[in-house]
Amino acid sequence: MTRTATPLPATLTPALLDRLTAAVVAAPDAPRTVTTAPYTGEPLAELPVSTPADVEEAFARARAAQARWAAVPVRERARILLRFHDLVLARQDEALDLMQAENGKTRRDAFLEVTDIAVTARYYARAVVGLLAPKRRRGAIPVLTHTTELRHPKGVVTVISPWNYPLSMAAGDAIPALLAGNAVVQKPDTQTALTALWALDLMLEAGLPAEVWQMVVGRGSSIGDGLLAGADYVMFTGSTASGRRIARAAGERLIGASLELGGKNAMVVLPDADIAKAAEGAVAACFPSAGQLCVSIERLYVAEEIRAEFVAAFVARTRALRVGAAFDFSVDVGSLTTPAQLETVTAHLADAVSKGATVLAGGVARPDLGPLFHEPTILADVTPDMAVFAQETFGPVVSIYPYREVAEAIAMANATPYGLNASVWSRSGARGRAVAARLHAGTVNVNEAFAAAWGSVDAPMGGMGDSGVGRRHGAEGILKYTEVQTVAHQRLRGFGPPSGMSHARWSRILTVALRTLRVVGAR
Ligand code: NAP
Repeated sequence: MTRTATPLPATLTPALLDRLTAAVVAAPDAPRTVTTAPYTGEPLAELPVSTPADVEEAFARARAAQARWAAVPVRERARILLRFHDLVLARQDEALDLMQAENGKTRRDAFLEVTDIAVTARYYARAVVGLLAPKRRRGAIPVLTHTTELRHPKGVVTVISPWNYPLSMAAGDAIPALLAGNAVVQKPDTQTALTALWALDLMLEAGLPAEVWQMVVGRGSSIGDGLLAGADYVMFTGSTASGRRIARAAGERLIGASLELGGKNAMVVLPDADIAKAAEGAVAACFPSAGQLCVSIERLYVAEEIRAEFVAAFVARTRALRVGAAFDFSVDVGSLTTPAQLETVTAHLADAVSKGATVLAGGVARPDLGPLFHEPTILADVTPDMAVFAQETFGPVVSIYPYREVAEAIAMANATPYGLNASVWSRSGARGRAVAARLHAGTVNVNEAFAAAWGSVDAPMGGMGDSGVGRRHGAEGILKYTEVQTVAHQRLRGFGPPSGMSHARWSRILTVALRTLRVVGAR
């Protein structure tokens, strides 16, 4: 049952919200939690809270359903995902309204998630047959050993997803897990659980058998242990600190884990960059979802010779951004999602300013627009003693640093334990790509902020260093949810000498055979 004091768009009918919350695995008399609408600070939704016993129940249901689901032909699973794709596009207004209501982001930021999920669903639905098909491998003895690589589902995958990209993170990681024949037990962040439940609702309408995708709601401190105890694999997206805890628990159980964690992403503007495009690109890089995007840019390195011109263009564009709450496409920057995020942004800025940083744009909260709004902010004169220098702010705050040599910019960009995403701007594609290859980041975009790499779903995406382990997207993004098995069928004869031949003679023959294989270029 969902109750709201916040005026919601007409698409979010009480009947829809009731149906979504009913899908949470929780006892009928479960305690309730109330989420808050970031735009207004008013109560938004009332959700049941799952207990550790409910999590056990979710795993029991998922495990029973998984065996049946894995027996469904891969092509039929793919057809369900394509129907899900069509439903997401057809019913996108519900998703956009839900994401805005729960997260406080702009409609255009929410629409990016709709496109992301459509692209991911289509890509994996079309690629899955080839990716999971048995693969012939070179046998131990040519012709005689028939070797095949098989892919089996892991079983039940736990997906733990954050609040900042509630549709992308929740459905985007469940899609390949499900297509690979797994069941999923998911804990979306409570703040944005309705959006994840909406994706589940559409997946069921598209034909996913009941019980294959289970959804629980609750704090990690209460149900986190159960989510790890029942899983055959865990997909976690969140902070580096939480990721380390998840990795320890997964290690103890010897199950695999894919961890998509924090970042302190750098953008390098080379001396030959198109300044107007780079300034436009910096706006797109720094302020989507009010900076609450794991791949958004918080450090900007600009060549000294173009710094003044670039800064003027970037500051002008940033000051022109329309900040506000609107369930349409009329604003550019939305609200932060939680009071904790606003506190971090405010604390990082106060610390920086008190230690001598210069505010070039923004710098203040906007309580006149809503309780959690903050101006997009550009800082200069940031020094290593300031929190904003190395710590992830996860808000609309970027620091600009000048550099003289490109090697110096690369060194500064790489001087972080993180390694998630980066951006390089140059009029020369070759030069931009050469610098990109020297940056310590899992994805690097040339003349783009983050969407080029993120949207290239055929290529892996994820973090180096403290930004994570494992990748989403591409072949790796689905094969990680499988157990690989080698079946080698030895035909006609085995590995010992033919009958009557001594081992000494057999070893001499094998030595000649090995030398010949080397000479003829065999692998
Ligand atoms: P967080 O504190 O780590 O929490 C993320 C989610 O994980 C929350 O829903 C949290 O639930 C849950 N969680 C944390 N520990 C858990 C545990 N032991 N068991 C089960 N669930 C657990 O991160 P956040 O501050 O909310 O999210 C922002 C962070 O996520 C940023 O650092 C950002 O960079 C990162 N992020 C990374 C990516 C990526 O793709 N690399 C994408 C998006 C966000 P509870 O709060 O209820 O415990």
